[in-house]
Amino acid sequence: MNIILLGPPGAGKGTQARRLEEERGMIQLSTGDMLREARTSGTEMGRKVAAIMDAGELVTDDIVIGLIEEKIKAAPNASFIFDGFPRTLAQADALGELLERNGKKLDAVIELRVDDDALVKRIAGRYTCGDCGEVYHDATKPTKVDGVCDECGSSNLIRRADDNEEALKTRLMEYYKKTSPLIGYYYAKGLLHSVDGLAPIDTVASEIASVLDALRPLDGNVKTP
Ligand code: ADP
Ligand code: ADP
Ligand code: ZN
Repeated sequence: MNIILLGPPGAGKGTQARRLEEERGMIQLSTGDMLREARTSGTEMGRKVAAIMDAGELVTDDIVIGLIEEKIKAAPNASFIFDGFPRTLAQADALGELLERNGKKLDAVIELRVDDDALVKRIAGRYTCGDCGEVYHDATKPTKVDGVCDECGSSNLIRRADDNEEALKTRLMEYYKKTSPLIGYYYAKGLLHSVDGLAPIDTVASEIASVLDALRPLDGNVKTP
């Protein structure tokens, strides 16, 4: 099964993707994480994308499509959760072609609906573990012990450079202009499921679980490889 988690910055995509990994053995493919890794690795691509990311703009389609293609090819039998990808119609088309070429299909697109006021609060309070990637929040999901990751015990807790008010404004504009058209795109394909992303983390997780559990693998017009 392959799914997309779709939603604005701070909607809870990463949080839910990590739970799905744990609960269903799926693999999270976060282009944001891949790009952040690329920038710390000091490659030319990393340097190119750093300034774009810090400003809150989208990096070019060919870069993220290339990153996703590598990951899909590396794990031919895996079930993927696409987190933060696709973000443009061109990326959505490319993903469709990529999956088809690799004998895979998209089973569902889960849209996490959250209003802008809540997003600002979520982004302002977000921090992550630099070692294992667990996502925390000052108010809604703090670490049990101050300054120590619950999952791996690391004290390397970090805040993202683009989680500030100015960059968030740009990120939201980018989302509404370039990414939100994907809601209609996937609705037309009969793949869209909308979930209330304002609910607590556990409630959102069980809503997503109900959507995935209700999916029927046998739909007549899908080619099997
Ligand atoms: P968020 O958690 O706020 O949704 P991400 O971690 O997914 O953010 O992305 C952070 C930044 O990385 C984006 O603002 C953008 O600059 C870049 N980025 C991530 N994924 C993509 C993508 N699919 N296309 C273009 N840019 C991307
Ligand atoms: P995204 O990947 O969509 O940008 P994250 O999963 O990183 O979003 O979540 C953004 C912030 O909001 C994090 O600090 C996270 O702990 C918190 N968060 C995620 N889901 C919820 C929720 N349902 N209720 C309250 N806070 C949440
Ligand atoms: Zn950790």
